[in-house]
Amino acid sequence: MTAPSSDPCLFCRIIRGEIPAGRLGESADSVAIADIAPQAPHHVLLIPKRHSPHIGEFMKGPRAAEEMKDLLDLGQGIVAKKNLEEKGYRLVVNTGEEGGQTVPHLHIHLLAGREMGWPPG
Ligand code: AMP
Ligand code: ZN
Repeated sequence: MTAPSSDPCLFCRIIRGEIPAGRLGESADSVAIADIAPQAPHHVLLIPKRHSPHIGEFMKGPRAAEEMKDLLDLGQGIVAKKNLEEKGYRLVVNTGEEGGQTVPHLHIHLLAGREMGWPPG
């Protein structure tokens, strides 16, 4: 067993399996986990394996387009598996302090299973 990493990034540690999480799927560049504090009956986090603090940094990566497709494809697999297409769902990327981001590793929230309000809070 490898020693626990001193990496302070929560999602990097979850991706490496150092912190347990409800894994819902994995692809070449991405993982999907259940949110620990679900805000809807279905609340999935789609997380790129490559660490970036936010989407602006992520998009500077040389493989960003491919990685983003991989991330969205993983989400679409979950949408299909959970049969969410018909009633709908919401994808959210909170970014920065005013955007409400609390974990500085890019992730997309996939929320479904209830009526969503607009505008968001
Ligand atoms: P955000 O506020 O957009 O950065 O989203 C971070 C999300 O990570 C929140 O919805 C949290 O509930 C969720 N979260 C925090 N810690 C964990 C964890 N250990 N496992 C799963 N989800 C988590
Ligand atoms: Zn990270």
